[in-house]
Formats: sequence, C-alpha cells, structure tokens
Amino acid sequence: LDGLVKHFPVRDALGRRRGAVRAVDGVSLAVPEGSVLAIVGESGCGKSTLGRLALRLIEPDAGTVRFAGEDLGALSPRALRARRRDMQLIFQDPFASLDPRMTVEDAVAEPLRLHGIVPRAKERERVAELLARVGLRPEHARRWPHEFSGGQRQRIAIARALASGPRLVIGDEPVSALDVSVQAQVINLLQDLIRDLGLTFVLISHDLAVVRHVADRVAVMYLGRIVEEGPAEAVFAAPRHPYTRALLAAVPGQGRAAAPPIEGDVPSPIAPPPGCRFHPRCSFAEALCRELDPELAGGAAHRAACHLQDRLPPAVAPAEADTG
Ligand code: SF4
Ligand code: MG
Repeated sequence: LDGLVKHFPVRDALGRRRGAVRAVDGVSLAVPEGSVLAIVGESGCGKSTLGRLALRLIEPDAGTVRFAGEDLGALSPRALRARRRDMQLIFQDPFASLDPRMTVEDAVAEPLRLHGIVPRAKERERVAELLARVGLRPEHARRWPHEFSGGQRQRIAIARALASGPRLVIGDEPVSALDVSVQAQVINLLQDLIRDLGLTFVLISHDLAVVRHVADRVAVMYLGRIVEEGPAEAVFAAPRHPYTRALLAAVPGQGRAAAPPIEGDVPSPIAPPPGCRFHPRCSFAEALCRELDPELAGGAAHRAACHLQDRLPPAVAPAEADTG
C-alpha cells in the first residue's frame, strides 16, 4: 500500500457537503508474502476501510495498491475479478456474511463456480474437503446457516473464503462477534490454516490479546494513520508510541506498560487535531506536538510517528507493573 487516502464526504440533511471523514489519511504499508500483519486500533480508526482498500473493494482517493507486484488500480474490471480469487476477506459478523437462503454447500461452492476452479462433478468432494479443513463434517453441507452457532458459521465463512485458493486473506475482526470461549478455537483454526496453506494474512482487530499470538508484525492505527509499525515482539515489549503503550496498558494481564490510561474520546476524524493527532490525549505532549505532525520514523524495522519516541521513559515490564 502506498500513500493511500480515502475520505468519505459528510452531508447535512439537505445533502450539502459539510466536510469529510478522513478514514484513511496517507497510509503506506507492506505485507511480506507468507507473513501475518495485524492492524490494530480503536473502532473508527480506519482499519476496516484500509482492509477494503487493500482488496480494492473500494477505490482510494489517492495512492496505489500493489499485489504481487501488480498495480490493482491499473487492472480492467475483468482482470480484477479474476485476481479476486487470490485475495479474500473474512467479515466480522458470521450472521450477516452468509446468505440465509443458501445451503452450506452452495455458499462454499459459489467461489468454486465463479472462478471455474473444479469441474461440477468434483464440486461436492471439494466442498467436503474445505469443510473438513475448518473442522466441519461432510453432512453439514446440506444444512442451512441458521442451524449453526456463531463459531460454526464463522468456520463456514472461512471455508468459503478459502475455496478459491487465495494467497492473501484479510480477516476484519474475525472473532470479535463470537463468544470469548469460541474465539480461541477460531483463532487456533486460523493459525493452523495460515501455517498449512502458507497464507499471507492481515488480521484487523481492536483486541491486542488476540493479535499477540498470531501476528508477525503489528501496525497500530489512529485517526486514519499508522502511528507505529514493527515486529510483534518489539511492539509488545518496547512500544515506541504513547498510543500503543496506552492500548497495551488496557489489555488485562499485560500489566501497565508505563502509560496512564488514554484520556478522553477519540477526536473527530472529520477535523483531526493539528500537529500530532494524538496530542489531546497524550500525557507526554509538548508544544512541538501541537504544531508539527510527526512522520513515521525510527528505522525500517520498527517505526513510530512520535516526536519523543527516543526520549520517552522506558516502558515498565509487565511483571514489575503487576506487583506494583
Ligand atoms: Fe504524544 Fe507528542 Fe508523541 Fe504525539 S508526538 S504521541 S503528542 S509525545
Ligand atoms: Mg471495523
């Protein structure tokens, strides 16, 4: 992703344009093949929009999306449709993402037909294989989505996403709608699939506890921007951005990573604060922060958009924080 921008116009009751939600406001990001990148942030930070831009399900206002070296914006609609078999999205809500009028078999077989992946005679067999991959049984194929629990429905949605043999899968909060007891099972399933199929995976989540065990790299989003990006261990052990520290401090069992809880609400994405967008909520903010918008900096492997990233007090290790 290079320089991606997506603003949504905001209109008043008479349809007059009254500004724009700056959902994605200049994002550049690379996902190495075969790796898992987590995009984290509070709701409304633009992470779902970014995921849809990455799959070219929506058009950016500016910037480019390249997949395996190919500029998706330069493809004809027909070529883009063919490309879709390589890139799939898993949605948050398994109750909304499956058509209630389609049997499980039809839901999973639809991408096979769309992309001409197996001959009709082999379809049933292929659907059974896909269901087995996600821990369901062949006889489930004849049933309807409403007959399944949320966790099972998400397994069906995952089987459907895998049907076309994608190389890249984006999961937009894939377990957030599920009971906590079921979340770990579905996350374990995703991890197995990522490993066994060699998938490149982007996990969009507000839940750092989920991300921690899955991601190779983590990108933290705030008000339409990436504010920190780096290897998962480094971001969790030594976060460079005060916002990341505050998010980590809010995770149960993480201890307090030397940050007070975040103050106040997320500012409006229609009129982000000047300077550093996080400054109204940042306990480290200085005069410079209110004036100058920090760039992502700090080395290729682990970057943060914070003027003070090299001068912040060290984060307290979770073990110490827990005893204090
Ligand atoms: Fe806080 Fe300033 Fe860093 Fe922004 S640039 S996160 S306000 S210290
Ligand atoms: Mg979202």
